[in-house]
Amino acid sequence: MDKLAIDGGLPIRTKPFPAWPIYDELEERLILEVVRSGKWGGTGRIKLPELEEKFAAIHDAKHAVSIANGTVAITISLQAAGVQPGDEVIMPPYTFIATASSALLFGAIPVFVDIEPDTLLIDPEKVEAAITSKTKAIIAVHIAGAPANLTRLRAIANKHGLRLIEDSAQAVGARWDGVGVGAQGDLGTFSFQSSKNINAGEGGIILTNDRELADHAWSLANVGRIREGGWYQHETIGWNLRMTELQAAILLGQLSRLDDQMERRERNAQLLTELLGDTPGVRTLRRDPKITRHALHIFMFRIDPDLTDRINKADVIRKLNAEGIPVTSGYVSLNQNKAVINETKKWTGEERAYSCPNSERACDKEIVWLSQNIMLAGEPDMYDIAAGVRKVMASLG
Ligand SMILES: *Cc1c(COP(=O)(O)O)cnc(C)c1O
Repeated sequence: MDKLAIDGGLPIRTKPFPAWPIYDELEERLILEVVRSGKWGGTGRIKLPELEEKFAAIHDAKHAVSIANGTVAITISLQAAGVQPGDEVIMPPYTFIATASSALLFGAIPVFVDIEPDTLLIDPEKVEAAITSKTKAIIAVHIAGAPANLTRLRAIANKHGLRLIEDSAQAVGARWDGVGVGAQGDLGTFSFQSSKNINAGEGGIILTNDRELADHAWSLANVGRIREGGWYQHETIGWNLRMTELQAAILLGQLSRLDDQMERRERNAQLLTELLGDTPGVRTLRRDPKITRHALHIFMFRIDPDLTDRINKADVIRKLNAEGIPVTSGYVSLNQNKAVINETKKWTGEERAYSCPNSERACDKEIVWLSQNIMLAGEPDMYDIAAGVRKVMASLG
């Protein structure tokens, strides 16, 4: 058996994976246009309306509201949907902290419902049991770019009179049952933070098919103004959470590559799924056939749950890194995050405990990530990743 690189053997690869972010002269030209126009924000917006229109069209949505980032996009969506301080919002714990903090930032309470162990998406079968008289909304998180089960979640939300919000920060371009994500819920949010598939350093957008919700969200993010109203006409108290023309320019450049990049991600992911499917010690995730387009922001795979009593995740990651395979460990389950627990206690006066064994196991023992640039590499790179995983898992017996 080949000696592991961590023990002084030859690594599987030393070549770097694709650099990030990806851009060319197009972004340079678009941003120069904005600089020279002198219209960087405020009135006379040109790039932002174009971005909003294109982004909505890509996702089959009627309305888009650009916004400062993905976190406040969720906060604004919750507030536009009528969620008030003290109301409960159902969400999965296997997600970035922003899904929970967006609620806690104004006193809405996250209620965690466990994920399915083989998709890492919220388990629709467990949602109804978590609904109380205080529940106002469900947040579906399309983790790693895989749409959550929007058919089931929509039906549950309708049955109980709840709002459905899609945290689509990782899912630009994804489709569930042939329709774009974002506006299958009442509102959907996206992030253009530097690690996201389409990025401008920072930024965000809200999609919806409901004109009133779009106007309400716009007002909340535009100092309480109303569309077509006067500059100093403020109907409610709102923040200034606008995005700039400079960001919109970069994003229009980025969007021009979306289709090509999505096809490449899909091809690579199919190949890697096949290769890892034959590898003892690991398992690939289950993909619902209704995921008609996967954004593949992160490629996640599992250490075989039957082996985790003797195979340590941190050890696997260290050994893969030494082989030149840049895997990472990912999230801490949010039901175990101290800040979330403390802030929830601050608002509710009680210590809330949630049982989310699948999410906890995913974080602590099973799930390994390949970052957003890796599915844009070439076919030989997928063989390298699989070879690295096979070598490390074989060494662990
Ligand atoms: C990145 C991300 C966010 C937050 O977006 P920001 O633009 O960084 O504020 C929210 N939810 C998920 C799932 C994310 O990955």
